[in-house]
Amino acid sequence: MKTKAYGAHASNKPLEAMDIERRQPGSHDVQIDIAYCGVCHSDLHTVRSEWAGTLYPCVPGHEIVGHVSAVGSEVTGFKVGDTVGVGCLVDSCQHCASCGEGLEQFCENGFTGTYNGKTPDAPGHTLGGYSQQIVVSDRFVLKIRHPEEQLAAVAPLLCAGITTYSPLRHWGAGPGKKVGIVGIGGLGHMGIKLAHAMGAHTVAFTTSESKRQDALDLGADEVVISKDPDDMARHAGSFDFILNTVAASHDLDAYTRLLKRDGTLCLVGVPEHAHPSPNVGTLIFGRRSIAGSLIGGIAETQEMLDFCAEHGIVADIEMIPAQKIDQAYDRMQRSDVRYRFVIDNASLAA
Ligand code: NAP
Ligand code: ZN
Repeated sequence: MKTKAYGAHASNKPLEAMDIERRQPGSHDVQIDIAYCGVCHSDLHTVRSEWAGTLYPCVPGHEIVGHVSAVGSEVTGFKVGDTVGVGCLVDSCQHCASCGEGLEQFCENGFTGTYNGKTPDAPGHTLGGYSQQIVVSDRFVLKIRHPEEQLAAVAPLLCAGITTYSPLRHWGAGPGKKVGIVGIGGLGHMGIKLAHAMGAHTVAFTTSESKRQDALDLGADEVVISKDPDDMARHAGSFDFILNTVAASHDLDAYTRLLKRDGTLCLVGVPEHAHPSPNVGTLIFGRRSIAGSLIGGIAETQEMLDFCAEHGIVADIEMIPAQKIDQAYDRMQRSDVRYRFVIDNASLAA
């Protein structure tokens, strides 16, 4: 089945309209008419091959929401018309230890990403949500319980939401804990909302003075301008946990110094160029950790969506037609994002 999409033919080419092929739904597949797709910084890293290894044509997009338009004969959990989502994963081996524990993002045989992943479908790699339709195995489809009118603002939960929710839960963000969120972009603004909803004392770190009031409105108890050494020094040795979402290489010592004994700095940003090597002394004196975290499994993604529906949490979005995607990328690169671009996929019909 042909569907209209928006993607790039090479790392140095702008995105453009293209027709792509979707498989006919198999017995366990769900076919989805995509209503909206969020724009993640990973889309930009991939389209421009900043991480190397991008396969072209590249159709990004892994914050997908829409409605079921067909289901395979063995599908019992979904029916035509259901409001659903698809995040960063569309397949995994289903038999390794990680898959067995519902941690498909750590599949020991390699998960299949929603774009740029290996697939038997044409053209040999997966193509993402900047498209009118997608066909996904029912095990990787999420139920959306938010009111329908919030659907566009739910899309970013599928990556930005779960990528911040999972480490906040893993490292026990909650009442009595002091939690930092570094970088107020797509991930960071969700991190503030979620840490606040979990009951943690939430501190936002930003390089952008202009985001100070927004960070407070998003739920931060305090805001620190990370370029101001005095402002940073006031928080030395005080954090239980800091989640760092910055998409560019920077000095990590500035944050490890702010951790309490046994505190953790968790990195989720994947910059094009490596961070400078951290100071080992700061880690040793205080038994501090630097850790990483990758999106979240399907069960936890459903848990996060339900948590957000229950707490009335969605992303703060700026809707764009697909034709404006390159301008959105340029703004994202300049940290000028408030706080997630979402593509209105109806624009693909134009
Ligand atoms: P984004 O919307 O562009 O936000 C990143 C924010 O980082 C910016 O808004 C800015 O916030 C801050 N920042 C940017 N450049 C900086 C610099 N040079 N120094 C200090 N701060 C800077 O990006 P995103 O979509 O949230 O994604 C963030 C990163 O996470 C990307 O690398 C992405 O690929 C990665 N990611 C990882 C996972 C995972 O599973 N681990 C999942 C999704 C995305 P301020 O203006 O507040 O400073
Ligand atoms: Zn993403």
